[in-house]
Amino acid sequence: MTSSARDHAVVIGASFAGIVTARVLSDHFAQVTVIERDQLPEGPELRKGVPQGGHVHGIMQLGREILDDLFPGFVAETQQEGAVIFDQIALGMGWGKHGWSSIFEPSSLRGYGVRRPLLEYVARRRALALDNVTLVSGRVDGLTVGEGRRITGVLLGGDAAGDAPTPLEADLVVEASGRGSAAPGWLEAAGFEAPTETQVNAFGGYASRLLRVPDEIWPEGVRFVAQLPLPGCTKGAIVYPQDNGLHIVSLFGVSHDYPPRDEAGFDEFLRNCAVPLMHEIVSKSEPVSEIRTSRSTVNRWRHYEKIANPPAGFVVVGDANAAFNPMYGQGISSACLGAVTLGKAISDAGDDLADLPHDFQTRLAALLVVPWFTAINYDLQFPETVGERPAPTEESKKRGAYMDVLAQLATEDLEVAEAFLRAVQTFDPSALDQPSFPAKAAQWIADGRKPRFTDPNKPPVAAAA
Ligand SMILES: Cc1cc2nc3c(=O)[nH]c(=O)nc-3n(C[C@H](O)[C@H](O)[C@H](O)COP(=O)(O)OP(=O)(O)OC[C@H]3O[C@@H](n4cnc5c(N)ncnc54)[C@H](O)[C@@H]3O)c2cc1C
Repeated sequence: MTSSARDHAVVIGASFAGIVTARVLSDHFAQVTVIERDQLPEGPELRKGVPQGGHVHGIMQLGREILDDLFPGFVAETQQEGAVIFDQIALGMGWGKHGWSSIFEPSSLRGYGVRRPLLEYVARRRALALDNVTLVSGRVDGLTVGEGRRITGVLLGGDAAGDAPTPLEADLVVEASGRGSAAPGWLEAAGFEAPTETQVNAFGGYASRLLRVPDEIWPEGVRFVAQLPLPGCTKGAIVYPQDNGLHIVSLFGVSHDYPPRDEAGFDEFLRNCAVPLMHEIVSKSEPVSEIRTSRSTVNRWRHYEKIANPPAGFVVVGDANAAFNPMYGQGISSACLGAVTLGKAISDAGDDLADLPHDFQTRLAALLVVPWFTAINYDLQFPETVGERPAPTEESKKRGAYMDVLAQLATEDLEVAEAFLRAVQTFDPSALDQPSFPAKAAQWIADGRKPRFTDPNKPPVAAAA
């Protein structure tokens, strides 16, 4: 095997990062094998290896566009299966630090209502339809090592205890086995450096269930409502559209305030959120699934980009590399971004992939700075959150004060609201650097204006949709 060979790539894990990466690698390698330890369902169903599948998955514009690019017609295909695309500003009501958002005009931002298992099923179907992508059922237990600091493949675990693992050779191994990744240990066992790790833990949790929400109980023109936990209120929730006429309610807790699984506890948690609207809607809706919980919310970045001399033939993508508190909906988009970045790094590497791991992990790390800080800056608002708190600088205080005025404006100014959402949805904060905004902010202050809808019991009434 040489460092330029492109015969075979192996991807560990057939969840989102694994599937989109396999799609990208199919352009660069003769054969791509995806190895998955779960028996994958035939349809859009929950599975053991992806327990987060029962919780709300907001899909950012960035991820949606990459998916449509990698699998042309992807979004339309999910729509044929019942997914919905809707106006992410006009149809929603949100409560935050500055009260209710109160914009009901049509916007250019789109939301994507789809259950996570359906999204994954369609992506998997598309990737496995490619001639050179194959799925192998099995569990990876380690890496094989060749001469000259090179990973040469994976070890597939045997079915029964005591079975010897079977080696599977590859020119490139991509680790995409999620938050629980064992790769740092595999690298150490093979004599290489393991990555250092940064963690920021808000001690958060989820409890979710699918619902059928009667149309008539929504405030006029509204189809979803959200309130994240806020300083002073460790409880939050979202009621969000899904495919085939369903909604999902997900409860979010932080600071060890974990939403419970039992009916009475679930109801009580929702009742004690900052605004009563979510409770009102859920209590008049028909539950159509059991309540499922998750506590996989720690922000964890394994710094593969900081390994100065990593072995050739091995890269890490998706949650196995960087996982964020999922409350901010960035995981799928980050996985997609990782896949396309790997494709570019392979193209740029030309004939020699020896330096690919360092080059790729460095490029990806630079792109993940925005979602990382989006997640940890929010989480670090809560005093119980554990993680390094950077001391504010004069510059950051000034920027923070300006952003706070823009956030007030965003409760009623469509242009500013769109810019906020676009920045979040595309991982591009420069969306907020519009030339007209400083003057708008100055005028807001000069006029002594304040957000208008700050009574949690009185959501602004939407104009007719
Ligand atoms: C509660 C919750 C809510 C979330 N909400 C959102 C959201 O709103 N928006 C969003 O974009 N993201 C969200 N996410 C994150 C999103 O689910 C992940 O970022 C996304 O699934 C990409 O993860 P992944 O493919 O890297 O890993 P995973 O999805 O964890 O998949 C890992 C895969 O690897 C397999 N595997 C593991 N070990 C092995 C092994 N040794 N051998 C073979 N196979 C193996 C597993 O079975 C699994 O299929 C949420 C996550 C959680 C926990």
